Amino acid sequence: MPKTNNLNSLSQIIKDEIDKYDHKVDSTDVGQVVSVGDCIATVFGLDDAMYGELIEFPGNAYGMVMNIEETDIGVALFGENITIKEGDPCKRTKRLVSVPVGDALLGRVVNALGQPIDGYGKIETKELRPIEVVAPEIMDRQSVCEPLETGIKAIDSMIPIGKGQRELIIGDRQTGKTAIAIDTIINQKGKDVYCVYCSIGQKNSSLAQIVARLKRFDALKYTTIVGSSAAEPSPMQYLAPYSATSIAEHWMHQGKNVLIIYDDLSKHAVAYRTLLLLLRRSPGREAYPGDIFYLHSRLLERSCRLSDELGGGSLTALPIIETQAGDISAYIPTNVISITDGQLFLNTDMFNSGQRPAIDSGLSVSRVGSAAQTKVMKSVSKDLRMALANYHEMLDFSRFGSDLDASTKKILTHGAILTEVLKQKQYMPLSAGQEIVDIYVAQSGLLDSINVSYVHKVLKLLDNSIRAQNPEIYDEINNNKTFSEESKNKVEERLKSILSTLKDNFILEDSY
Ligand code: ATP
Ligand code: MG
Repeated sequence: MPKTNNLNSLSQIIKDEIDKYDHKVDSTDVGQVVSVGDCIATVFGLDDAMYGELIEFPGNAYGMVMNIEETDIGVALFGENITIKEGDPCKRTKRLVSVPVGDALLGRVVNALGQPIDGYGKIETKELRPIEVVAPEIMDRQSVCEPLETGIKAIDSMIPIGKGQRELIIGDRQTGKTAIAIDTIINQKGKDVYCVYCSIGQKNSSLAQIVARLKRFDALKYTTIVGSSAAEPSPMQYLAPYSATSIAEHWMHQGKNVLIIYDDLSKHAVAYRTLLLLLRRSPGREAYPGDIFYLHSRLLERSCRLSDELGGGSLTALPIIETQAGDISAYIPTNVISITDGQLFLNTDMFNSGQRPAIDSGLSVSRVGSAAQTKVMKSVSKDLRMALANYHEMLDFSRFGSDLDASTKKILTHGAILTEVLKQKQYMPLSAGQEIVDIYVAQSGLLDSINVSYVHKVLKLLDNSIRAQNPEIYDEINNNKTFSEESKNKVEERLKSILSTLKDNFILEDSY
Protein backbone atom coordinates (compact mmCIF):
# COMPACT_ATOMS: atom_id res chain seq x y z
CA MET A 1 0.00 0.00 0.00
CA PRO A 2 1.47 3.47 -0.84
CA LYS A 3 2.84 5.50 2.07
CA THR A 4 0.65 8.55 2.94
CA ASN A 5 0.01 10.95 5.79
CA ASN A 6 -3.39 11.92 4.67
CA LEU A 7 -6.14 10.05 6.50
CA ASN A 8 -8.72 10.80 3.83
CA SER A 9 -6.64 9.40 1.03
CA LEU A 10 -5.88 6.32 3.15
CA SER A 11 -9.58 5.62 3.62
CA GLN A 12 -10.08 6.20 -0.12
CA ILE A 13 -7.39 3.62 -0.87
CA ILE A 14 -9.02 1.09 1.44
CA LYS A 15 -12.40 1.70 -0.21
CA ASP A 16 -10.85 1.24 -3.65
CA GLU A 17 -9.19 -1.98 -2.57
CA ILE A 18 -12.51 -3.29 -1.25
CA ASP A 19 -14.19 -2.40 -4.54
CA LYS A 20 -11.49 -4.19 -6.50
CA TYR A 21 -11.73 -7.28 -4.28
CA ASP A 22 -12.76 -10.20 -6.41
CA HIS A 23 -14.90 -12.29 -4.08
CA LYS A 24 -14.03 -15.82 -5.02
CA VAL A 25 -15.80 -17.46 -2.12
CA ASP A 26 -19.50 -16.88 -1.94
CA SER A 27 -21.28 -17.53 1.31
CA THR A 28 -23.59 -19.84 -0.63
CA ASP A 29 -20.60 -21.96 -1.73
CA VAL A 30 -19.88 -23.18 1.80
CA GLY A 31 -22.39 -25.11 3.82
CA GLN A 32 -22.65 -27.12 6.99
CA VAL A 33 -23.57 -30.73 7.60
CA VAL A 34 -26.85 -30.93 9.53
CA SER A 35 -27.03 -34.69 9.81
CA VAL A 36 -25.23 -37.69 8.40
CA GLY A 37 -25.95 -41.42 8.25
CA ASP A 38 -26.31 -44.36 5.83
CA CYS A 39 -24.11 -42.60 3.24
CA ILE A 40 -26.43 -39.61 3.10
CA ALA A 41 -25.55 -36.14 4.39
CA THR A 42 -28.11 -33.39 4.82
CA VAL A 43 -26.43 -30.06 4.23
CA PHE A 44 -27.58 -26.54 5.06
CA GLY A 45 -26.39 -23.37 3.32
CA LEU A 46 -25.51 -24.54 -0.20
CA ASP A 47 -28.38 -22.60 -1.75
CA ASP A 48 -26.97 -22.55 -5.29
CA ALA A 49 -25.86 -26.21 -5.49
CA MET A 50 -26.90 -27.99 -8.74
CA TYR A 51 -28.45 -31.43 -9.04
CA GLY A 52 -25.60 -33.90 -9.65
CA GLU A 53 -22.90 -31.48 -8.43
CA LEU A 54 -19.85 -32.80 -6.60
CA ILE A 55 -19.64 -31.57 -3.00
CA GLU A 56 -16.38 -31.68 -1.04
CA PHE A 57 -16.24 -32.58 2.64
CA PRO A 58 -13.31 -32.54 5.09
CA GLY A 59 -10.90 -35.50 4.85
CA ASN A 60 -11.06 -35.73 1.04
CA ALA A 61 -14.58 -37.12 1.13
CA TYR A 62 -16.98 -36.35 -1.71
CA GLY A 63 -20.66 -36.62 -2.38
CA MET A 64 -23.20 -35.86 -5.06
CA VAL A 65 -26.27 -33.64 -4.76
CA MET A 66 -29.34 -35.86 -5.10
CA ASN A 67 -32.11 -33.89 -3.37
CA ILE A 68 -32.72 -30.17 -3.47
CA GLU A 69 -35.22 -28.98 -0.90
CA GLU A 70 -36.33 -25.58 0.33
CA THR A 71 -33.99 -25.32 3.27
CA ASP A 72 -31.38 -28.00 2.79
CA ILE A 73 -29.94 -30.43 0.23
CA GLY A 74 -29.42 -34.20 0.37
CA VAL A 75 -25.97 -35.43 -0.64
CA ALA A 76 -25.17 -39.07 -1.43
CA LEU A 77 -21.68 -39.80 -0.10
CA PHE A 78 -19.11 -41.86 -1.99
CA GLY A 79 -16.98 -44.42 -0.20
CA GLU A 80 -17.46 -46.57 2.85
CA ASN A 81 -15.11 -45.19 5.48
CA ILE A 82 -16.43 -41.68 5.68
CA THR A 83 -15.83 -39.87 8.97
CA ILE A 84 -17.98 -36.79 8.38
CA LYS A 85 -19.91 -35.60 11.41
CA GLU A 86 -22.63 -33.14 12.23
CA GLY A 87 -21.45 -29.51 12.03
CA ASP A 88 -18.61 -30.19 9.56
CA PRO A 89 -18.18 -27.64 6.78
CA CYS A 90 -18.54 -28.62 3.13
CA LYS A 91 -18.18 -26.76 -0.12
CA ARG A 92 -19.36 -26.70 -3.70
CA THR A 93 -16.96 -27.71 -6.45
CA LYS A 94 -19.20 -26.22 -9.18
CA ARG A 95 -18.67 -29.23 -11.39
CA LEU A 96 -20.70 -32.32 -12.07
CA VAL A 97 -19.50 -35.73 -10.95
CA SER A 98 -17.05 -36.91 -13.63
CA VAL A 99 -14.93 -39.94 -14.42
CA PRO A 100 -11.57 -40.26 -16.17
CA VAL A 101 -11.92 -41.49 -19.76
CA GLY A 102 -9.53 -42.50 -22.53
CA ASP A 103 -7.46 -45.40 -23.82
CA ALA A 104 -5.55 -45.68 -20.53
CA LEU A 105 -8.67 -47.36 -19.11
CA LEU A 106 -8.44 -50.35 -21.46
CA GLY A 107 -7.53 -53.52 -19.62
CA ARG A 108 -8.29 -51.95 -16.25
CA VAL A 109 -10.81 -52.59 -13.48
CA VAL A 110 -12.19 -49.41 -11.92
CA ASN A 111 -14.83 -48.49 -9.36
CA ALA A 112 -17.87 -46.29 -9.98
CA LEU A 113 -15.72 -43.16 -9.71
CA GLY A 114 -13.21 -44.43 -12.27
CA GLN A 115 -10.54 -45.13 -9.63
CA PRO A 116 -8.49 -48.29 -10.25
CA ILE A 117 -9.28 -51.29 -8.05
CA ASP A 118 -7.08 -53.86 -9.81
CA GLY A 119 -3.83 -53.01 -8.03
CA TYR A 120 -2.02 -51.99 -11.23
CA GLY A 121 -1.48 -48.38 -10.14
CA LYS A 122 -2.67 -45.01 -11.29
CA ILE A 123 -4.54 -44.53 -14.57
CA GLU A 124 -2.68 -41.91 -16.58
CA THR A 125 -5.37 -39.90 -18.30
CA LYS A 126 -6.12 -36.19 -18.30
CA GLU A 127 -9.58 -36.30 -19.78
CA LEU A 128 -12.69 -36.27 -17.63
CA ARG A 129 -16.30 -36.73 -18.69
CA PRO A 130 -19.42 -36.02 -16.59
CA ILE A 131 -21.25 -39.19 -15.68
CA GLU A 132 -24.59 -37.78 -16.82
CA VAL A 133 -24.63 -36.49 -20.37
CA VAL A 134 -27.67 -35.72 -22.50
CA ALA A 135 -28.13 -38.44 -25.13
CA PRO A 136 -27.39 -37.60 -28.80
CA GLU A 137 -30.34 -36.07 -30.64
CA ILE A 138 -32.25 -37.81 -33.43
CA MET A 139 -30.48 -35.76 -36.12
CA ASP A 140 -27.10 -36.83 -34.73
CA ARG A 141 -27.95 -40.51 -35.19
CA GLN A 142 -28.24 -42.92 -38.07
CA SER A 143 -30.10 -46.19 -38.29
CA VAL A 144 -28.60 -49.45 -37.12
CA CYS A 145 -27.53 -51.54 -40.10
CA GLU A 146 -24.26 -53.28 -39.28
CA PRO A 147 -24.20 -56.54 -37.29
CA LEU A 148 -22.45 -56.87 -33.96
CA GLU A 149 -21.60 -60.55 -34.03
CA THR A 150 -22.02 -62.36 -30.73
CA GLY A 151 -20.51 -65.60 -32.02
CA ILE A 152 -23.55 -67.42 -30.62
CA LYS A 153 -25.40 -69.28 -33.39
CA ALA A 154 -28.89 -68.93 -31.93
CA ILE A 155 -28.52 -65.16 -31.53
CA ASP A 156 -26.75 -64.22 -34.76
CA SER A 157 -29.18 -66.30 -36.83
CA MET A 158 -32.54 -65.55 -35.20
CA ILE A 159 -32.22 -62.46 -32.99
CA PRO A 160 -29.42 -60.45 -34.62
CA ILE A 161 -27.91 -57.51 -32.77
CA GLY A 162 -26.74 -54.41 -34.64
CA LYS A 163 -24.09 -51.87 -33.76
CA GLY A 164 -25.86 -49.12 -31.81
CA GLN A 165 -28.76 -51.35 -30.73
CA ARG A 166 -29.97 -51.95 -27.18
CA GLU A 167 -30.83 -55.61 -26.64
CA LEU A 168 -32.01 -56.77 -23.24
CA ILE A 169 -30.86 -60.12 -21.84
CA ILE A 170 -33.60 -61.27 -19.50
CA GLY A 171 -34.11 -64.45 -17.50
CA ASP A 172 -34.26 -66.00 -14.04
CA ARG A 173 -31.18 -66.40 -11.93
CA GLN A 174 -28.55 -68.87 -13.16
CA THR A 175 -29.81 -69.16 -16.71
CA GLY A 176 -26.63 -68.09 -18.49
CA LYS A 177 -27.24 -64.33 -18.80
CA THR A 178 -23.71 -63.29 -17.91
CA ALA A 179 -22.33 -66.12 -20.07
CA ILE A 180 -23.93 -64.62 -23.22
CA ALA A 181 -22.51 -61.18 -22.40
CA ILE A 182 -19.01 -62.49 -21.73
CA ASP A 183 -19.00 -64.65 -24.89
CA THR A 184 -20.02 -61.57 -26.89
CA ILE A 185 -17.05 -59.65 -25.45
CA ILE A 186 -14.69 -62.56 -26.24
CA ASN A 187 -16.02 -62.66 -29.80
CA GLN A 188 -15.06 -59.01 -30.40
CA LYS A 189 -11.37 -59.96 -30.45
CA GLY A 190 -9.70 -58.54 -33.55
CA LYS A 191 -12.92 -56.83 -34.66
CA ASP A 192 -11.94 -53.35 -33.47
CA VAL A 193 -14.78 -53.06 -30.95
CA TYR A 194 -14.03 -51.70 -27.48
CA CYS A 195 -15.97 -53.25 -24.61
CA VAL A 196 -17.09 -52.01 -21.20
CA TYR A 197 -18.46 -54.49 -18.67
CA CYS A 198 -20.32 -52.86 -15.78
CA SER A 199 -20.99 -55.10 -12.82
CA ILE A 200 -23.59 -53.83 -10.33
CA GLY A 201 -24.36 -55.42 -6.98
CA GLN A 202 -22.56 -58.71 -7.64
CA LYS A 203 -20.13 -60.49 -5.34
CA ASN A 204 -16.50 -59.43 -5.63
CA SER A 205 -15.60 -63.07 -6.23
CA SER A 206 -17.90 -63.27 -9.30
CA LEU A 207 -16.29 -60.15 -10.71
CA ALA A 208 -12.80 -61.53 -10.07
CA GLN A 209 -13.77 -64.70 -11.99
CA ILE A 210 -15.01 -62.65 -14.95
CA VAL A 211 -11.80 -60.61 -15.02
CA ALA A 212 -9.74 -63.82 -14.94
CA ARG A 213 -11.79 -65.35 -17.79
CA LEU A 214 -11.45 -62.27 -19.97
CA LYS A 215 -7.73 -62.24 -19.32
CA ARG A 216 -7.47 -65.93 -20.24
CA PHE A 217 -9.21 -65.37 -23.55
CA ASP A 218 -7.05 -62.32 -24.23
CA ALA A 219 -10.14 -60.10 -24.19
CA LEU A 220 -9.14 -57.80 -21.34
CA LYS A 221 -6.89 -55.66 -23.47
CA TYR A 222 -9.84 -54.13 -25.33
CA THR A 223 -12.17 -54.11 -22.30
CA THR A 224 -12.72 -51.86 -19.29
CA ILE A 225 -14.47 -53.24 -16.24
CA VAL A 226 -16.47 -50.96 -13.97
CA GLY A 227 -17.36 -52.76 -10.77
CA SER A 228 -19.55 -51.82 -7.86
CA SER A 229 -20.03 -54.84 -5.64
CA ALA A 230 -22.98 -55.73 -3.43
CA ALA A 231 -20.88 -54.71 -0.41
CA GLU A 232 -20.53 -51.13 -1.59
CA PRO A 233 -23.01 -48.46 -0.47
CA SER A 234 -25.99 -47.71 -2.69
CA PRO A 235 -24.68 -44.37 -4.07
CA MET A 236 -21.73 -46.19 -5.67
CA GLN A 237 -23.97 -48.90 -7.15
CA TYR A 238 -26.27 -46.19 -8.46
CA LEU A 239 -23.40 -44.37 -10.16
CA ALA A 240 -21.65 -47.39 -11.75
CA PRO A 241 -23.68 -47.72 -14.99
CA TYR A 242 -23.59 -43.98 -15.66
CA SER A 243 -19.81 -43.89 -15.19
CA ALA A 244 -19.39 -46.93 -17.42
CA THR A 245 -21.52 -45.28 -20.11
CA SER A 246 -19.39 -42.13 -19.99
CA ILE A 247 -16.22 -44.19 -20.40
CA ALA A 248 -17.78 -45.98 -23.40
CA GLU A 249 -19.29 -42.82 -24.87
CA HIS A 250 -15.90 -41.14 -25.04
CA TRP A 251 -14.77 -43.80 -27.53
CA MET A 252 -18.04 -43.64 -29.45
CA HIS A 253 -17.48 -39.91 -30.02
CA GLN A 254 -14.03 -40.74 -31.38
CA GLY A 255 -15.71 -42.82 -34.08
CA LYS A 256 -15.15 -46.24 -32.49
CA ASN A 257 -17.61 -49.08 -32.09
CA VAL A 258 -18.21 -49.81 -28.42
CA LEU A 259 -20.13 -52.56 -26.62
CA ILE A 260 -21.40 -52.02 -23.07
CA ILE A 261 -22.86 -54.63 -20.73
CA TYR A 262 -24.89 -53.68 -17.64
CA ASP A 263 -24.93 -56.70 -15.32
CA ASP A 264 -27.53 -56.20 -13.98
CA LEU A 265 -30.10 -53.39 -13.99
CA SER A 266 -32.46 -55.14 -11.53
CA LYS A 267 -29.83 -54.68 -8.84
CA HIS A 268 -29.30 -51.12 -10.05
CA ALA A 269 -33.00 -50.39 -9.57
CA VAL A 270 -32.83 -51.84 -6.04
CA ALA A 271 -29.79 -49.68 -5.21
CA TYR A 272 -31.61 -46.59 -6.47
CA ARG A 273 -34.68 -47.47 -4.42
CA THR A 274 -32.52 -47.84 -1.29
CA LEU A 275 -30.80 -44.55 -1.98
CA LEU A 276 -33.97 -42.59 -2.50
CA LEU A 277 -35.75 -44.14 0.47
CA LEU A 278 -32.78 -43.00 2.58
CA LEU A 279 -33.20 -39.55 1.04
CA ARG A 280 -36.85 -39.71 2.16
CA ARG A 281 -38.35 -39.53 -1.33
CA SER A 282 -41.83 -40.95 -1.32
CA PRO A 283 -42.09 -44.56 -2.50
CA GLY A 284 -44.37 -45.54 -5.38
CA ARG A 285 -45.21 -48.91 -6.93
CA GLU A 286 -43.27 -51.77 -5.27
CA ALA A 287 -41.64 -49.02 -3.16
CA TYR A 288 -39.61 -47.85 -6.18
CA PRO A 289 -39.44 -44.08 -6.60
CA GLY A 290 -41.63 -42.48 -9.24
CA ASP A 291 -38.75 -41.75 -11.61
CA ILE A 292 -37.50 -45.34 -11.84
CA PHE A 293 -38.39 -45.51 -15.55
CA TYR A 294 -36.39 -42.36 -16.20
CA LEU A 295 -33.45 -43.88 -14.30
CA HIS A 296 -32.99 -46.51 -17.01
CA SER A 297 -34.37 -44.64 -20.02
CA ARG A 298 -31.88 -41.80 -19.75
CA LEU A 299 -29.11 -44.36 -19.35
CA LEU A 300 -30.02 -46.53 -22.34
CA GLU A 301 -30.93 -43.60 -24.56
CA ARG A 302 -27.21 -42.81 -24.70
CA SER A 303 -26.58 -45.94 -26.80
CA CYS A 304 -26.88 -45.25 -30.49
CA ARG A 305 -25.09 -45.13 -33.81
CA LEU A 306 -23.82 -41.63 -34.54
CA SER A 307 -24.18 -40.03 -37.96
CA ASP A 308 -21.23 -40.06 -40.34
CA GLU A 309 -20.66 -36.32 -39.76
CA LEU A 310 -20.07 -37.09 -36.09
CA GLY A 311 -17.65 -39.89 -36.87
CA GLY A 312 -20.06 -42.80 -37.24
CA GLY A 313 -19.15 -44.37 -33.88
CA SER A 314 -21.62 -46.62 -32.09
CA LEU A 315 -22.52 -47.73 -28.60
CA THR A 316 -24.29 -51.09 -28.39
CA ALA A 317 -25.88 -51.88 -25.03
CA LEU A 318 -26.67 -55.29 -23.59
CA PRO A 319 -28.47 -54.60 -20.31
CA ILE A 320 -29.29 -57.63 -18.14
CA ILE A 321 -32.45 -58.03 -16.06
CA GLU A 322 -33.15 -60.84 -13.63
CA THR A 323 -36.74 -62.08 -13.44
CA GLN A 324 -38.49 -64.00 -10.65
CA ALA A 325 -39.99 -67.30 -11.83
CA GLY A 326 -39.92 -66.17 -15.47
CA ASP A 327 -42.27 -63.24 -14.84
CA ILE A 328 -41.40 -60.75 -17.57
CA SER A 329 -44.50 -58.71 -16.80
CA ALA A 330 -43.16 -57.45 -13.45
CA TYR A 331 -42.50 -53.73 -12.95
CA ILE A 332 -38.77 -53.35 -13.70
CA PRO A 333 -38.68 -55.98 -16.53
CA THR A 334 -41.56 -54.30 -18.41
CA ASN A 335 -39.90 -50.90 -18.00
CA VAL A 336 -36.62 -52.06 -19.48
CA ILE A 337 -38.32 -54.16 -22.21
CA SER A 338 -40.10 -51.04 -23.39
CA ILE A 339 -36.89 -48.99 -23.37
CA THR A 340 -34.77 -51.45 -25.36
CA ASP A 341 -34.92 -52.55 -29.01
CA GLY A 342 -35.64 -56.19 -28.24
CA GLN A 343 -34.94 -58.91 -25.73
CA LEU A 344 -33.20 -62.26 -25.48
CA PHE A 345 -35.40 -64.28 -23.17
CA LEU A 346 -33.62 -67.11 -21.37
CA ASN A 347 -35.84 -70.00 -20.38
CA THR A 348 -35.10 -71.81 -17.11
CA ASP A 349 -36.62 -75.14 -18.22
CA MET A 350 -34.59 -75.13 -21.43
CA PHE A 351 -31.44 -74.30 -19.46
CA ASN A 352 -32.06 -77.10 -16.97
CA SER A 353 -32.80 -79.62 -19.72
CA GLY A 354 -29.41 -78.90 -21.27
CA GLN A 355 -30.50 -76.61 -24.11
CA ARG A 356 -27.78 -74.00 -23.61
CA PRO A 357 -27.72 -71.11 -24.39
CA ALA A 358 -31.36 -71.29 -23.32
CA ILE A 359 -32.69 -68.70 -25.78
CA ASP A 360 -36.44 -68.95 -26.14
CA SER A 361 -36.94 -68.28 -29.85
CA GLY A 362 -40.65 -67.63 -29.33
CA LEU A 363 -40.32 -64.85 -26.74
CA SER A 364 -37.05 -63.33 -27.96
CA VAL A 365 -37.09 -60.59 -30.52
CA SER A 366 -34.83 -58.03 -32.10
CA ARG A 367 -36.76 -54.99 -33.29
CA VAL A 368 -33.89 -54.03 -35.59
CA GLY A 369 -34.29 -57.45 -37.18
CA SER A 370 -32.53 -58.54 -40.33
CA ALA A 371 -31.27 -54.97 -40.98
CA ALA A 372 -28.55 -56.00 -38.55
CA GLN A 373 -27.65 -59.18 -40.46
CA THR A 374 -25.33 -59.79 -43.36
CA LYS A 375 -27.12 -60.90 -46.55
CA VAL A 376 -25.58 -64.34 -46.34
CA MET A 377 -26.73 -64.90 -42.73
CA LYS A 378 -30.18 -63.64 -43.67
CA SER A 379 -30.51 -66.07 -46.57
CA VAL A 380 -29.25 -69.08 -44.59
CA SER A 381 -31.34 -68.49 -41.47
CA LYS A 382 -34.61 -67.10 -42.79
CA ASP A 383 -36.64 -70.30 -42.23
CA LEU A 384 -35.05 -71.23 -38.93
CA ARG A 385 -37.52 -69.56 -36.58
CA MET A 386 -40.49 -70.99 -38.45
CA ALA A 387 -39.02 -74.52 -38.41
CA LEU A 388 -38.42 -74.27 -34.67
CA ALA A 389 -41.93 -72.92 -34.02
CA ASN A 390 -43.39 -75.84 -36.04
CA TYR A 391 -41.23 -78.27 -34.10
CA HIS A 392 -42.34 -76.96 -30.68
CA GLU A 393 -45.99 -77.04 -31.72
CA MET A 394 -45.71 -80.63 -33.00
CA LEU A 395 -43.77 -81.66 -29.93
CA ASP A 396 -46.62 -80.58 -27.65
CA PHE A 397 -49.13 -82.23 -29.97
CA SER A 398 -47.20 -85.52 -30.24
CA ARG A 399 -47.42 -86.04 -26.48
CA PHE A 400 -51.10 -86.97 -26.91
CA GLY A 401 -50.50 -89.94 -29.16
CA SER A 402 -47.74 -92.25 -30.29
CA ASP A 403 -49.13 -92.98 -33.75
CA LEU A 404 -47.57 -90.20 -35.79
CA ASP A 405 -47.79 -89.75 -39.53
CA ALA A 406 -44.69 -89.42 -41.70
CA SER A 407 -44.81 -85.63 -42.14
CA THR A 408 -45.14 -85.04 -38.37
CA LYS A 409 -42.24 -87.41 -37.78
CA LYS A 410 -40.18 -85.49 -40.32
CA ILE A 411 -40.86 -82.14 -38.61
CA LEU A 412 -39.99 -83.66 -35.23
CA THR A 413 -36.72 -85.18 -36.46
CA HIS A 414 -35.66 -82.03 -38.27
CA GLY A 415 -36.58 -79.81 -35.29
CA ALA A 416 -34.61 -82.00 -32.90
CA ILE A 417 -31.54 -81.68 -35.14
CA LEU A 418 -31.96 -77.91 -35.40
CA THR A 419 -32.24 -77.45 -31.63
CA GLU A 420 -29.17 -79.65 -31.17
CA VAL A 421 -27.15 -77.63 -33.69
CA LEU A 422 -28.08 -74.41 -31.84
CA LYS A 423 -26.58 -75.73 -28.59
CA GLN A 424 -23.26 -74.12 -27.92
CA LYS A 425 -20.72 -74.38 -25.15
CA GLN A 426 -19.67 -71.39 -23.06
CA TYR A 427 -16.51 -69.47 -24.06
CA MET A 428 -16.71 -70.85 -27.60
CA PRO A 429 -18.02 -68.07 -29.81
CA LEU A 430 -17.85 -69.02 -33.50
CA SER A 431 -16.78 -67.07 -36.54
CA ALA A 432 -19.51 -66.07 -39.01
CA GLY A 433 -18.14 -68.73 -41.39
CA GLN A 434 -18.59 -71.57 -38.92
CA GLU A 435 -22.03 -70.35 -37.83
CA ILE A 436 -23.29 -70.16 -41.39
CA VAL A 437 -21.93 -73.58 -42.38
CA ASP A 438 -23.48 -75.17 -39.26
CA ILE A 439 -26.88 -73.58 -39.86
CA TYR A 440 -26.73 -74.37 -43.56
CA VAL A 441 -26.11 -78.09 -43.02
CA ALA A 442 -28.73 -78.25 -40.28
CA GLN A 443 -31.30 -76.66 -42.60
CA SER A 444 -30.32 -78.85 -45.56
CA GLY A 445 -31.74 -81.93 -43.85
CA LEU A 446 -28.57 -83.95 -44.40
CA LEU A 447 -28.18 -84.45 -40.66
CA ASP A 448 -31.77 -85.65 -40.20
CA SER A 449 -30.79 -89.26 -40.76
CA ILE A 450 -28.44 -89.45 -37.76
CA ASN A 451 -29.04 -89.74 -34.06
CA VAL A 452 -29.03 -86.32 -32.30
CA SER A 453 -26.27 -87.38 -29.93
CA TYR A 454 -23.83 -87.49 -32.88
CA VAL A 455 -24.64 -84.06 -34.28
CA HIS A 456 -21.84 -82.15 -32.58
CA LYS A 457 -19.31 -84.86 -33.37
CA VAL A 458 -20.22 -84.64 -37.07
CA LEU A 459 -20.11 -80.83 -37.04
CA LYS A 460 -16.65 -80.95 -35.47
CA LEU A 461 -15.41 -83.36 -38.17
CA LEU A 462 -16.90 -81.14 -40.85
CA ASP A 463 -15.20 -78.07 -39.35
CA ASN A 464 -11.83 -79.88 -39.25
CA SER A 465 -12.21 -81.06 -42.81
CA ILE A 466 -13.13 -77.57 -44.13
CA ARG A 467 -10.20 -76.03 -42.26
CA ALA A 468 -7.81 -78.61 -43.69
CA GLN A 469 -9.11 -78.92 -47.26
CA ASN A 470 -11.25 -75.89 -48.15
CA PRO A 471 -10.34 -73.00 -45.83
CA GLU A 472 -11.39 -70.61 -48.61
CA ILE A 473 -15.03 -71.36 -47.75
CA TYR A 474 -14.68 -69.74 -44.31
CA ASP A 475 -12.58 -66.90 -45.74
CA GLU A 476 -15.20 -66.21 -48.38
CA ILE A 477 -17.96 -65.89 -45.75
CA ASN A 478 -15.89 -63.97 -43.19
CA ASN A 479 -14.26 -61.53 -45.59
CA ASN A 480 -16.52 -61.23 -48.64
CA LYS A 481 -19.76 -62.04 -46.82
CA THR A 482 -20.80 -64.45 -49.56
CA PHE A 483 -21.54 -68.17 -49.60
CA SER A 484 -21.48 -69.25 -53.24
CA GLU A 485 -23.33 -72.24 -54.70
CA GLU A 486 -19.94 -73.82 -55.35
CA SER A 487 -18.99 -73.55 -51.67
CA LYS A 488 -22.37 -74.92 -50.64
CA ASN A 489 -21.82 -77.95 -52.89
CA LYS A 490 -18.35 -78.48 -51.46
CA VAL A 491 -19.71 -78.37 -47.89
CA GLU A 492 -22.42 -80.88 -48.79
CA GLU A 493 -19.88 -83.20 -50.41
CA ARG A 494 -17.61 -83.06 -47.37
CA LEU A 495 -20.54 -83.75 -45.07
CA LYS A 496 -21.78 -86.69 -47.16
CA SER A 497 -18.35 -88.27 -47.21
CA ILE A 498 -17.99 -87.86 -43.41
CA LEU A 499 -21.41 -89.42 -42.84
CA SER A 500 -20.72 -92.38 -45.14
CA THR A 501 -17.34 -93.07 -43.51
CA LEU A 502 -18.93 -93.00 -40.06
CA LYS A 503 -21.81 -95.22 -41.19
CA ASP A 504 -19.44 -97.72 -42.81
CA ASN A 505 -17.64 -97.98 -39.51
CA PHE A 506 -20.93 -98.44 -37.64
CA ILE A 507 -20.23 -95.34 -35.59
CA LEU A 508 -23.53 -93.67 -36.44
CA GLU A 509 -26.87 -95.13 -35.51
CA ASP A 510 -29.89 -94.04 -37.49
CA SER A 511 -32.36 -91.92 -35.60
CA TYR A 512 -35.29 -94.27 -36.21
P1 ATP B 1 -26.85 -65.12 -12.10
O1 ATP B 1 -28.33 -64.96 -12.03
O2 ATP B 1 -26.30 -65.79 -10.90
O3 ATP B 1 -26.13 -63.86 -12.48
P2 ATP B 1 -26.57 -65.93 -14.82
O4 ATP B 1 -27.95 -65.98 -15.35
O5 ATP B 1 -25.74 -64.75 -15.15
O6 ATP B 1 -26.58 -66.17 -13.26
P3 ATP B 1 -24.34 -67.52 -15.61
O7 ATP B 1 -23.56 -67.18 -14.40
O8 ATP B 1 -23.92 -66.92 -16.87
O9 ATP B 1 -25.87 -67.25 -15.34
O10 ATP B 1 -24.39 -69.07 -15.86
C1 ATP B 1 -24.86 -69.98 -14.87
C2 ATP B 1 -24.10 -71.27 -14.98
O11 ATP B 1 -24.38 -71.90 -16.20
C3 ATP B 1 -22.60 -71.09 -14.92
O12 ATP B 1 -22.06 -72.08 -14.13
C4 ATP B 1 -22.16 -71.23 -16.35
O13 ATP B 1 -20.88 -71.77 -16.44
C5 ATP B 1 -23.20 -72.18 -16.93
N1 ATP B 1 -23.43 -71.92 -18.36
C6 ATP B 1 -23.85 -70.77 -18.89
N2 ATP B 1 -23.94 -70.84 -20.24
C7 ATP B 1 -23.57 -72.09 -20.57
C8 ATP B 1 -23.45 -72.80 -21.82
N3 ATP B 1 -23.74 -72.25 -22.98
N4 ATP B 1 -23.04 -74.07 -21.76
C9 ATP B 1 -22.75 -74.65 -20.59
N5 ATP B 1 -22.83 -74.05 -19.39
C10 ATP B 1 -23.24 -72.78 -19.36
MG1 MG C 1 -24.94 -63.23 -13.98
